[in-house]
Amino acid sequence: MTASKNLTGSVCTRCGKPRVVVETYEEKVETSVVMYTITACSDSECQKKVDQVLKEEKRKRLVIKDEQEKRELLRKATFAARKNA
Ligand SMILES: [Zn+2]
Repeated sequence: MTASKNLTGSVCTRCGKPRVVVETYEEKVETSVVMYTITACSDSECQKKVDQVLKEEKRKRLVIKDEQEKRELLRKATFAARKNA
């Protein structure tokens, strides 16, 4: 961790170390400019694990969504088959 990094004032929920700003950018939204900040844990190893968990959760959500869609299709197909019988 270097002194040049901006502290965010918040701490990592995982390890309790201070979180730092890794990137800031501005985006024009209609008439105003919105500042966005991307923050990360000051411990890069911890951040890697956090990213991994987030990635895994995202993957799980996609799988669940996929399962729900499949079930819905099956439900519709069963209903249609019954109707035609
Ligand atoms: Zn951390």
